[in-house]
Amino acid sequence: MSPIITVNDLVFEYPGLRALDAVSFSIEPGTITALVGPNGAGKTTLMRCLCGLLRPLAGAIVVNGIDVIEAPRRCHQELGFLPDFIGLYDSLTVAQCLEYAATANGVSHDLDSRVRTTAERLQLVDRLAQRAGELSRGLRQRLAIGQAIIHAPPLLILDEPASGLDPEARHALAELFRALQAQGMSLLVSSHILAELQDYATHMLVLRAGRMLEHRALGVAANTVLTLEVVADLPAATVTLKAQAHVANVEQDGVGLRFNFAGDVTAQAELLRALIIAGVQVLRFGASGSNLQESYLNSVRAPSSPPV
Ligand code: ATP
Repeated sequence: MSPIITVNDLVFEYPGLRALDAVSFSIEPGTITALVGPNGAGKTTLMRCLCGLLRPLAGAIVVNGIDVIEAPRRCHQELGFLPDFIGLYDSLTVAQCLEYAATANGVSHDLDSRVRTTAERLQLVDRLAQRAGELSRGLRQRLAIGQAIIHAPPLLILDEPASGLDPEARHALAELFRALQAQGMSLLVSSHILAELQDYATHMLVLRAGRMLEHRALGVAANTVLTLEVVADLPAATVTLKAQAHVANVEQDGVGLRFNFAGDVTAQAELLRALIIAGVQVLRFGASGSNLQESYLNSVRAPSSPPV
């Protein structure tokens, strides 16, 4: 299957500042990629280039087969974009906002059914008659996403979609992303809330100072952080754990142990079995909740990470 996004040697400059420097990557369809990096890394700039809203100095961008630099307007058919600051027409109803977005995106027939389908996808059906200005922040965000996908693009790009949302709305947003992915859409999502990206992202792309540091699938990390909690005798468990294959950097973390594991999921299952056979009374065993955060921090802190 061809990539949904291909970027080659992308360079973007603001006056006196190189914001993107030789950025190259490709994203497979059906994935949810977390775009992460410190403030000023170039995430928004990259997203705007992908959407044809900024013209790079050099390089190539292809979105679902469309050359974005040559045909920035055509690429809008292939993607939906949720910018970091959303503006809605507050005096229009939800249905009118969706109709407006559909027309602006070139949807010329079956407008009513398109509005209805999108409202169903976004669980906004019971709000269709309500004015945008009366919606909560979480629902405004949903409506803005509805506007971005009303023309059923295969790719959705979202810049900091969870900022300012309460935990429940953020959870609902994560569920929405998974549902859109299940319906065949690819997503590229920038966020600073790494713990939540981990709930739905399949891949991670790390930018720092305009350079790409890392792009990899999540959950198949060469070096996963695992935690182990035992019923009793942590010192003996530590000794047993350190003797196992693929295990490194064992350290105490609260009531348990935290360590790096350089094996796949089958090797993880074998490790658990070996620990139990060795007499360790395992209470909890699994991936640390902050793998993405861990991996991200390792990546951006490394002073000499080579660009990939
Ligand atoms: P944040 O996480 O803070 O949103 P970001 O990773 O999205 O940051 P960008 O907003 O793309 O980063 O900015 C990349 C660099 O380009 C920063 O140094 C920023 O100050 C600079 N920059 C962004 N927009 C402009 C502009 N319109 N004119 C000049 N410089 C800009």
